[in-house]
Amino acid sequence: MSAVEPLIAGTVVGFRQFRLDSAGRLLPLHAGSRAWDPAGTEAACARHPGHRPPVAECSCGLYAWHHAADALSRCDDDTTVVAAVRAHGRVLLGEHGLRAERAEVVALCLPARWTARRRARVAAQLRAAHPEVALHTSPRTFRRAYAAEPLDALGVRTRPTAHARLAAAVHVPWVLGVVALYSVVVWPPALDRVMASGGWAVLLAVFVLWQAWLVSHALDDDA
Ligand SMILES: [Zn+2]
Repeated sequence: MSAVEPLIAGTVVGFRQFRLDSAGRLLPLHAGSRAWDPAGTEAACARHPGHRPPVAECSCGLYAWHHAADALSRCDDDTTVVAAVRAHGRVLLGEHGLRAERAEVVALCLPARWTARRRARVAAQLRAAHPEVALHTSPRTFRRAYAAEPLDALGVRTRPTAHARLAAAVHVPWVLGVVALYSVVVWPPALDRVMASGGWAVLLAVFVLWQAWLVSHALDDDA
């Protein structure tokens, strides 16, 4: 997290990824291998037993993003799911996410890229293992149900990381390239016309501007 704000006490909704094991338990991706209890998990500092997480100068605490897009854009394998969590107790707020003393899982969401077969199998497994947790099989309904917390009143301005914000933008030139390629195949004279009219210079300029825009937006994140 960047720009760490002072500790607050209260409840804040956040989003994070979990790795599922064969029993449908929710395992953290990075810190430790202890499965979360969806009804309530408490942070423990692995390096300083005397810490009451989160400690600003340390890395301890339960992590969550402020925006669902950040967790959803990082689900790129067959075992990672997204959760909406309610953080309790002492909470450290950053620009992109939070660190909390305690948290509970209020909802789970399956990635859009999974096959229907895997989606159905994991959904049945999660409903059996965690009947108290709401399960969304569509990221769209999940995002509608759990919006980012408005933290402006606390003096904290949040936003998704570049990774989440630019997920769509990086695909635009690819789509345009495919369309251009097919248009030339369907109508070969199109290529001659574009080249003859100096269209290549416009295409090159658009490409360079797009790259510059991506770099400028990516550089201001530390996530
Ligand atoms: Zn610590």
